[in-house]
Amino acid sequence: MQLEGLHHITAITGDAQRNVDFYAGLLGLRLVKKTVNFDQPDVYHLYFGDEQGTPGSILTFFEFPGAAPGRAGDGMVHTIQWRVAGEQALDFWAQRIAAEGVGTERAGGVLRFADFEGLAHELVPGAGDDAPLAAAAPDVPAEHALLGFHGVRAYAARPEASAPLLEQLGIERDGESAWSAQGADRHALLHYDEPPAERGRQSAGTVHHIAWSLADDAELDAFRRRALDAGAHATDIIDRQYFHSVYFREPSGVLFELASRDIGFAYDEPAETLGEALKLPPQYENRREDLERRLTPLSNPRERVAG
Ligand code: ZN
Repeated sequence: MQLEGLHHITAITGDAQRNVDFYAGLLGLRLVKKTVNFDQPDVYHLYFGDEQGTPGSILTFFEFPGAAPGRAGDGMVHTIQWRVAGEQALDFWAQRIAAEGVGTERAGGVLRFADFEGLAHELVPGAGDDAPLAAAAPDVPAEHALLGFHGVRAYAARPEASAPLLEQLGIERDGESAWSAQGADRHALLHYDEPPAERGRQSAGTVHHIAWSLADDAELDAFRRRALDAGAHATDIIDRQYFHSVYFREPSGVLFELASRDIGFAYDEPAETLGEALKLPPQYENRREDLERRLTPLSNPRERVAG
């Protein structure tokens, strides 16, 4: 029983349409679920991923309309790392991203850029041999597609404080400042970097939490106990419709979630039409009309490109 890398990463946006245009349009991910924030149903929760919405590829956003860009600081994830096939993919993305007027930087073998709200990404060529998790965007050649998460970089002033919990979760030390969740099929790295002097502010363009991947409720229960044993304040298992979840904050400040893989996004709509209709959990279905009126209608760039 072990973590199979990351299940999903959840961040915040202030503009759902620009968000869809950036992640589905520019980066070529598939919008795999259009639903609401279960804790605040008048705002969107958008899920992007590979073609099936496979754990390990899922980047999600809560939309708080009009939220100002925040800033990553101590105890926050500041960069999301994606796998790509190789150097040629970096050439492709450097050109494609720059053509949209977004700045890129190639350094240390990776390509860095940020979305329109400042959320930073790194494309890492040839990182590990996990099965590729690619979306099939009509205008991104398959060999250059993003292939799932490689890891995240977080700021931590005292990263050693996190060591006992990470060890309890089976996340192993990987060099000076990195930790590795190496499952049978998928890996993910967690790097801790020295924090900036300025305090962080959770808002648009910042990561809200990262979720580690587990098989089912039995594994969630076992890892929840491990987290409790390491002193974390873990929630009970919560039903998130497409997976079940446990949340706790790790000692450096990053909000961790454990999420199960045994339900998935085809739970309430066919795999062929994932992300097209607004899906609501049963408790909000009776508010559909009101919610549909309040939520901004979204246009999916994949449909525009495909014509
Ligand atoms: Zn989550």
